[in-house]
Amino acid sequence: MSELAITPSVAIPIQLVWFVATVLFVTGLRKLSIPAKARGGIWLAGVGMLLVISSMLFHPGLNSNFMLIAIALVSGGLLSVAHARRVDMSNTPQMIALYNSLGGLAAACVATLVLLHASEHTSAVKSLAVLGVAIGCVAFAGSLLAFLRLHGKFTKHDGFAKKQVAYLANGALVLLLGLIMATSATAHPGLLAVFVILAMSFGVMITMPTSAADMPVLVSFYNALTGLAVAFDGFIIANPAMIVAGTLVFAAGSLLTRLMARSVNRRLSEIMYSGFGLSSSFVAVQSSTDHINTIDARDAAVGMAYARRVEIVPGYGMATAQAQHKLRELTQLLDERGVETGFAIHPVAGRMPGHMNVLLAEAGVPYEKIRDLGEINAEFSDVDVVLVVGANDIVNLAARTDPESPLFGMPVLDIDKAKRVIVLKRGDGAGYAGVENSFFSQPVTRVLLGDAKDSVQDLITSIKGMD
Ligand code: NDP
Repeated sequence: MSELAITPSVAIPIQLVWFVATVLFVTGLRKLSIPAKARGGIWLAGVGMLLVISSMLFHPGLNSNFMLIAIALVSGGLLSVAHARRVDMSNTPQMIALYNSLGGLAAACVATLVLLHASEHTSAVKSLAVLGVAIGCVAFAGSLLAFLRLHGKFTKHDGFAKKQVAYLANGALVLLLGLIMATSATAHPGLLAVFVILAMSFGVMITMPTSAADMPVLVSFYNALTGLAVAFDGFIIANPAMIVAGTLVFAAGSLLTRLMARSVNRRLSEIMYSGFGLSSSFVAVQSSTDHINTIDARDAAVGMAYARRVEIVPGYGMATAQAQHKLRELTQLLDERGVETGFAIHPVAGRMPGHMNVLLAEAGVPYEKIRDLGEINAEFSDVDVVLVVGANDIVNLAARTDPESPLFGMPVLDIDKAKRVIVLKRGDGAGYAGVENSFFSQPVTRVLLGDAKDSVQDLITSIKGMD
């Protein structure tokens, strides 16, 4: 049993605090699934975490290190607040990857310390510590590389994907060394160092060949791994709060990974082993606005004002332009004219899960107006006008038809079934996957060029001018 295990003198107050924190974690997580309550959920979980950290300060085993802990808490807290404030919405996946790598590192460090004092522990604790080090290191190195990849510092590297032998050998060595350490009376520091390096290189080998478009799914997977490593640490140092928090992160991360992988129609194994047929030409395609048919705001507004049903497809461009409030105003205007309006949400629209739902909820768009991919795809043939607001990949029909496309296999919104499509975008920019959307140059499509917020404002002004 670790010296950090709680003693009877502090057992009741600390356990009470941990119980309250657990309730806050679970309630916070529950609220996160409801966009309008998500912000409150984050706060609840944050308060829970603060309670757990504070409770540990009263732990007898930590009193001697109070100064070091205070320095770590203040500097870490200030750094993360300053950093998180600077990160804009479009860089959120990078931020999650970076913070997750730190979580994996912390979990690996706790388990490493236990292994360094292996002689004091039972073989069950040592086995969990071995798992904690391995999983924490994979999550640390894999997430850190994902952060650098999302930041554009490294590009996809197919070499590892072809070096299956190196991959398998690395995995087998991690297993072998882990087995040796779990069953030995003491862990040799040199052996432990090799084990740590091999576990980290395993994480690198998973991330390196993964396509940029699949990186968010992989980050979510690493998040689940970090949760698992933290839960193992909780068992090792007999800390129920860590077990609960780690298990929640593991469960939520696993479900999210599964959901995201299904949304882009891939199996996790395909994402991790790069066997999903992405061509190496995964680079931004130069496109041009020459071949698209443009429309001005007035004509677009007339088309919408006299339609029976208008569906709005928001994408990443809506988020960057912060056009959600104007869109709500536009739908209210159309509703007043008797036009049926709604929002069609793709699960990977934007840059993070639930991105569009959160923004639309923030703008006060009623939930009954929001339909997900499965629902709306069956209804597009009944839609007169689809207004695509800063979306590209989620409406790229090449995902259905072109096996060479990096998006091939991802379910997309079937906007081609609608009678008319109007696209709001600024120019010739491609989407996240770097591929042009040829549907934007089809006769049925008209492009209203400009920043999405300005364009929606122009539409509003034109519709108001019709009265
Ligand atoms: P895309 O990135 O595919 O397309 C965005 C479009 O918005 C571009 O065509 C761009 O064209 C336009 N745009 C950008 N800024 C503005 C603006 N201010 N005003 C008007 N238009 C603008 O976004 P989608 O939402 O269609 O697709 C999401 C992509 O992100 C998918 O590939 C998904 O896999 C990926 N992804 C999703 C994550 C998630 O969890 N949701 C996480 C990470 C990645 P132009 O420059 O010409 O204006």
